Parts: sequence; C-alpha cells; structure tokens
Amino acid sequence: MGLMTAAQYRASLNDGRVIYWGGEKITDVANHPRFQVPIAVACRDYAYDDPELEPIITYRTEDGTTAHRVYQVPRTTEELEMRLELGRHMSIVGGVTGVYMALLQVKDRLSAISPRFAHNIERLYLYARDNDLRAAEVITDAKGDRSKKAHEQHDPDMYVRIVERRNDGIVVRGAKLHITGAALVHELVVMPTKSMRPEEADYAVAFSIPVNTPGVSIINRSFAPAELNEFDYPASARHSMPEGFVVFDDVFIPWDRVFLAGEWQLAGAFAAALGLWERTLGLVIAHHEAEVMTGLAQLVSEQQGKDRDAHIQDTIAELICYTETIRMGIDYAVRHYESTPDGMLHPNILGINVTKYYYASHFHEMVKHLQDVAGGLVITLPEEAELRHPEAGAYLRKYLATGANTDIELRMRVYTLIRDLTADAYGGWNLVTALQAGGGLKAQRIMMARTFDMGHARKAALQAAGVKR
Ligand SMILES: Cc1cc2nc3c(=O)[nH]c(=O)nc-3n(C[C@H](O)[C@H](O)[C@H](O)COP(=O)(O)OP(=O)(O)OC[C@H]3O[C@@H](n4cnc5c(N)ncnc54)[C@H](O)[C@@H]3O)c2cc1C
Repeated sequence: MGLMTAAQYRASLNDGRVIYWGGEKITDVANHPRFQVPIAVACRDYAYDDPELEPIITYRTEDGTTAHRVYQVPRTTEELEMRLELGRHMSIVGGVTGVYMALLQVKDRLSAISPRFAHNIERLYLYARDNDLRAAEVITDAKGDRSKKAHEQHDPDMYVRIVERRNDGIVVRGAKLHITGAALVHELVVMPTKSMRPEEADYAVAFSIPVNTPGVSIINRSFAPAELNEFDYPASARHSMPEGFVVFDDVFIPWDRVFLAGEWQLAGAFAAALGLWERTLGLVIAHHEAEVMTGLAQLVSEQQGKDRDAHIQDTIAELICYTETIRMGIDYAVRHYESTPDGMLHPNILGINVTKYYYASHFHEMVKHLQDVAGGLVITLPEEAELRHPEAGAYLRKYLATGANTDIELRMRVYTLIRDLTADAYGGWNLVTALQAGGGLKAQRIMMARTFDMGHARKAALQAAGVKR
C-alpha cells in the first residue's frame, strides 16, 4: 500500500499477463527491449523523489495519505486547474489512469439504479489510489459493420458482451481495440463504447479487472521501433507508447468488480463521461504541441532569413491563432466548470467538445503551414551520423549554413523535430491520433448538439427576425 517506486512499478509488470508483440509472446515485460522506452515514459509518473515534480504529481487524500494527483477528485477550481497542470507533467499512462474520474462522474446516476455497482466504483477507485496503480481506458470495440447495432453483427462478439451470468459474477467475450498503454497498466477499466438499446442489454457491460486476469490477451503495436536515435527522432525516441488490441476470451468477472451488467440506460453516460476527461487531457497535450509547432515555424524562418516576409508572418499568425484558441478553450472550460450532485467538478462539456473539435479539425492544416514555411529539408535533411562524419559533415556544415555563423547543429535539430513531429514516426501517428483519439469528430458533434443552448439561439434568431414570442 502507498506510493510505488519506479523499480516496483517495473517489477509489477511481470505478473503473468499475456502480451504479444513483434510475433513474440512476451513473458518478461519489464525487461523486454520492445518495452524499454514505453516503460521509461511510464516511470516518470513514479518520480516522487524529484523535488520539482513531487508537489505537482502528489496530493494529500481525505484520509491523510499521499497519493498520485491523478486520483484527486476536483472539488474546487484550484484543484481542477491543478489537474490540468498535472496533464503537462504526466505520461500518457498516467493520463489514461484519469479513467477513474469518468467512473466517479457517473457514480451518482448509477447509484439510483444499482447501489451495489456504484459502491464497486468507489471501492475500486480507493483500491487503485491507495496502491498507486495505473489503469487503461478500455472502451472502443471492434464494432464490425458500423451500420448495424451490436446485436445485429455477423458475429455477436464485435462488441464486448456478457456471455454468461453466474451466481458469483459474469463471463464476458469480445475485444477492445487501440487501447493506449494497455500492456503497461495494472487495471483494465472496461466500459461500453456507445449508448445501448434494450435489445443490446448484454453489451451494456462495464467492469475493472487486473491485466493478468485469465482469458485476457493484449496484442501490441507502436509507431516507434524499439531503439531510435534521439538526435534524429527527438519526439519518437521519447514518447513511444504501445496501443493494444485487448481480447477478452470468456473472462470471468466477479460481481465486486462489475459496474454495469445489462443496465443499458447508462451505457451512454459512461462513454460520454470518459470522452470528456480524455478530451480534456488531449487538449492540454494539443496546446503544448501547437505552441511547439508555432515556435518551430518561427525558428526555421529566422534561420533562413525569411521571418520578416509578410507571407511568412501571415502563416505564423495562423499558428498563433490556433495555439491561443486551444488555450482559451481550455481556460473557458475550467472557468465555466460543471459539477456532479456529490460536488465533483468537471470541465464545461460544451467548451471541451468545441475546443477538441476545433483542434482536431484544424490540425492537418497547421501541419501544412509549418511544412510550407520549413521547405523540403523537412524530409531530406541528412542524419546525425553524417554530421559527425569528417568528410560528409564538412559538406553539411558548408551547405546548411545560411550565414557566416550559422549553428548547424541547432539548424538540424529544428528540422529533425519538424520532421519527427509532422512527417515521420510520431508525426504519422499524430496525424491520425489528432482526429481519432478521444473519439472522432462525430463524437464531438454529437456532444455539441446535446449541450449547446439551442433554445436560446432559436429565440435570438426569432427576435432578430422580428417575431415576438
Ligand atoms: C492513437 C490512438 C489511441 C487510442 N486510445 C484509445 C484508448 O486508450 N482507449 C480506447 O478505448 N480507444 C482508444 N482509441 C480509439 C478511438 O477512440 C477511436 O479510434 C475513435 O473513437 C474512432 O473509432 P474507430 O477507430 O472505430 O473508427 P470509426 O468508428 O470507424 O470511425 C471512423 C469514421 O467513420 C464514421 N462512422 C462511424 N460509424 C458510422 C456510421 N454508422 N455511419 C457513418 N459513418 C460512421 C465516423 O464518424 C468517422 O468519421 C485510440 C485511437 C487512436 C488513434
């Protein structure tokens, strides 16, 4: 019980979990070369001995203990703001552990239908907090034919479902795809990916289980090879995290780990709550990346002596507008927070969805602006090995110079980061991730339509048209 060290976290991953990667069934997850970068990323959240990080990543619980701040239920605006600050200092594994906020957000509504399941949420949240565990957000189903409901699919396992109800629990089957960090957490928090109808009741299932539960297998992939040179891959070499297909092959879930087992009316509430917290963290990361992209556009322009050109300044203005709109959207959502009946604060739902939609739908355009300003060297710049080579390096130093005192290494670092962020391993991954992670554009359109005050807008339109009602 209590906070774990990074070494304890690493060791905890060798618990018999079934993990596939690179055509291999991996038993020694903690030491396998494929997992070294992702584990190092996750270990940053256990750096409690770092005096600068410690006040940001820990908090005092109501019980007087110290826990990771990802478990802090925001009850004041300061706590909500600290949660966003935490997002700037946390790995994606810590980020997805925020799934407990989504569970706690629906707890009161669940309590009205099933006090027993609501109590499971409370108990498993405390268990995870007090043991300093990490959890994955396990929601997106295989889905099969998108035009068909869960129970209409050619194979009934296209959405995770209950195949057996027993006195001591339920048995589930199906698969959840794309699950961030699934192989590197302790708990799989599983919930429905969409609203369910009465005939889909077996698909309205939510629960949390340890990753090593019998019948669970995780098939991994990542955008980054196991080892990458940090000079040539400044983003990919540091951020790699596998996503996993999480397969549930007739997995037994005891009742004390179940949150939903047929209560179809609440399936959508779980999905919506998770979407809100996922999108909030996604925006914190998006804002940071937008700021970096803007800075890169400025640096690359300065290096080439074109930063005073009106066309370049116009392009950079687009990037500034993008960055600041995301920041203001996050600020708005925190200032105009909402709360659950038991006093938990969460960011404004409309504000987060509008901002996530804006960020995702403009991301590719911003990449285009940065690549337009930067030029072809984004993808043709030679690598560090050539810079260090005595003969090839001399040519690079001559022909990459843009003046008498050009810092060639800096120039190369700016270009390699632009390539890695927008046109290579991490960059390719990010082009899709911006659109899909946290739910695709349609998911935000649905939430915007649900939460926008259309009554007010209609009234304003009628008044403007001269209709008095
Ligand atoms: C890097 C990454 C990390 C992720 N991490 C996680 C995670 O940790 N946990 C998790 O649960 N999920 C995760 N996801 C999954 C993510 O939430 C989904 O990819 C996203 O919700 C879209 O679902 P999909 O991929 O099944 O695409 P689809 O649902 O097929 O959507 C693709 C397009 O099809 C459209 N579409 C869908 N259904 C219909 C229909 N019936 N009619 C017409 N058009 C339709 C959509 O609007 C969209 O435009 C991750 C995804 C990525 C890329």
